[in-house]
This record gives sequence, structure tokens and C-alpha cells, in this order.
Amino acid sequence: MINQRMYELGNEPSAIRELFAYGLSRKAEIGAENVFDFSLGNPSVAAPDAVKKAALELLEKPSQEVHGYTPAQGAPGVRAAIAASLNRRFDTSYTADNLYMTVGAAASISIAINAIVTPGDEFIVIAPYFPEYRVWIENAGGICVEAPARMGSFQLDIEALEDALTERTKAVIVNSPNNPTGAVYPECDLVELANTLRRKQDEYGHPIYLISDEPYREIVYGDTKVAFIPTLFENTLVCYSYSKSLSLPGERIGYVLVPPAAADAAKVYAAVCGAGRALGYVCAPTLFQHVIEKCVDEPCDVASYQENRDALYAGLTKLGYECVAPQGAFYLWMRALEPDAKAFTERAKGHELLVVPSDSFGVQGWVRIGYCVERSVIDGALPAFAALMHEYQAPTL
Ligand code: PLP
Repeated sequence: MINQRMYELGNEPSAIRELFAYGLSRKAEIGAENVFDFSLGNPSVAAPDAVKKAALELLEKPSQEVHGYTPAQGAPGVRAAIAASLNRRFDTSYTADNLYMTVGAAASISIAINAIVTPGDEFIVIAPYFPEYRVWIENAGGICVEAPARMGSFQLDIEALEDALTERTKAVIVNSPNNPTGAVYPECDLVELANTLRRKQDEYGHPIYLISDEPYREIVYGDTKVAFIPTLFENTLVCYSYSKSLSLPGERIGYVLVPPAAADAAKVYAAVCGAGRALGYVCAPTLFQHVIEKCVDEPCDVASYQENRDALYAGLTKLGYECVAPQGAFYLWMRALEPDAKAFTERAKGHELLVVPSDSFGVQGWVRIGYCVERSVIDGALPAFAALMHEYQAPTL
């Protein structure tokens, strides 16, 4: 006998993975330049030169220093460097002891959930949402409760969220800048959310945590501001990763921040260490911990994402598609031309357009277009989107 749930998870078709695999085989058949693959969130911008330089310098050091184990929660030096960087940027006073190094945001969120869950606790996610949230919540023994975002803008709908809160609510997961919608939550809405959570905490007599999933924190456009949520709501656990900001998704490096102002902070931090231990997420890759220590203030290069966003948004809206103007991350959220988003994405495939149906993110009728691609993919795709629109407009015979 094996673990049936794990078997099902491993065997379950993921729309994104399937689409990506389809894209690879289609590219082999008709040439990569003829397939417009918007399926994945793999950064198209190269990692900064500073990362390469730091890695090369580190590789000259004695093997133990760069390939040996660090403490389970990460090397003190990198945790101190991250704390100092956050303090400079957000006027906080964190220390190394508030941070736990992880293998990316996936591990950070899984650890945060496991650290605070008790059986039957509810975790609220805002639909549309990153699909793995449900997997991580349920695997930890929690219950995933969906609260809708505001339809159209995909901003926070505080009333809907309030309706979803119960005395079993342990945490709310927010993700701004957002995958899949590109929305960035303004500070005023987050303040309203914080006030609502405080009111409910008083009513229920226990803390409600905000798990802030922030892999896209630095990827924003124009004058969009990303609020630093722990300064607005004390019970925030930050789950960060360098996968997107420094284009290092394969290096698996990120952290959990437990701010000292959070309820039961010392206990929560100990539980984070315990969850890391229980899940086997100890000692994040040593080489890349040290790279981060050296590159902690390295700026994120958003220029080409911004160019892609501008070209794609302008091109698609000109063709008549309804799109949410992305304020951050590198995804564009577009209404499908029929209610069944899966059927729409199948028809899009006929034009070699690979976009992800919104069903994967818990809502109907939209698609996600990941524009972390070469500019040529966007330029090539726009005529295909025009043909797709034309196909829907043409009278059926
Ligand atoms: N959260 C969101 C919203 C994401 O988009 C991703 C990755 O795409 C993750 C978490 C996982 O990030 P990581 O690759 O750092 O584990």
C-alpha cells in the first residue's frame, strides 16, 4: 500500500504542466518560433551579473564553507544581512532571529501553514489564487476556504472576506503583486483588511495571521507602490523568495519572516523551525544562502517585463479583449471569449497560443498570460490573438 493522497497528487494532471509539456512537443514539431508559449512563470530576465560574480568568488572558498551544512534555519550571516536590508527599506528592526531560510516561497508557505495549523483550522485564500495553496493547506490538515476577489478589478473584496471569516479561521493568505491577476493591493485596502482582522480577533478571542506570499514584491510598474504588510498588520508572516526578483527559481532560495510584533512570535518562530524540521526543509542551499548575503540589495530588473506588459496590454485591448491592466508580477489576466475558459484555451491552441485557463486558479471564464517571455513571442502572438478573436466573431456556418 502507498499513500493514496500522495499518489493522486503526483498523478493529477496540472493544467500548467500539461500545457508546458504540450508546448515543448509542439515546438519540436513546428519550430519554437511558431509557438507562443505563455504558460509558465519562469523569469525571462537573466539573473544579475552580481549573482554570477558572487557565486564564482564563493566557489574559490574552502568546500566546507560553501557546500557544507549551515544551521537548520540558515547561516546567521545571511539572516542578519536580510534583516538589515529589510530594516533599511521598511524602517523595521528585525534581527537574524526573526528569519528562517527556505527553498523558495513554496517551502516558506508550507512551513508557515504547518507552524500555526491545528486540526480543522481554516485558511482563507482569495480567488483567483495560486493553486498550490490548497495542496499545502490540506496536506497540513487545514481547510481551504475561498473568498472571491472583486470581479473585474480583482482587488481585495473586504466584505466577501469578512463573510468567509469564522472562529475557525487561522490565517488569510494574500499575494500582492498577484499571480495570476497582476493586481497590487493598495495600502488603504490592506489597512481595511487589517482593521477587519483585528475586529474579528477581538470577537473570536484568538489571533488571525496574515500569510503574505511575496515572491513578486519588487516586480511592479510605473508608480505602483507595494505596501510592506507587517508594518500595517502585526500578525503577518512574510513568505519571500528570490525566484522572481533575482531570477533564481531553480536555486530554491527564500525565507520566512516572523516579525517580533506578531502574536506569540517566539513560539511561532520555534514552530517555524519545527515545521521546517518535520517537512525536511532544513539548511537551504548553502552556496545560494551566501550569494544572497552578498546580493541582498541587488535591484530587480523590471524594464523588459514592463515593455512586454505595455506591448501585450495595448495589443490585446486594441483587438477588443477585456484585460486587467497588470500593476505588478508578470501575468496578464484576460477574459476568455466564452464562459468555458478551458474550451477557449483549446481553441487558442489552434492558433499556437498557450494560455492557462482560470479554472486552475479557482474561477471561471478568464485566462492567465505569463509575459515573462522574449519580446518576439509577444510580437508573434498578437496576430494569432487577432485571428482567434476573428474566429469567435465569424458567424458559424
Ligand atoms: N507563490 C506564488 C504566487 C507563485 O507564483 C510562486 C511561483 O510561481 C510561488 C509561490 C512559489 O515560488 P518558489 O518558486 O519560490 O517556490
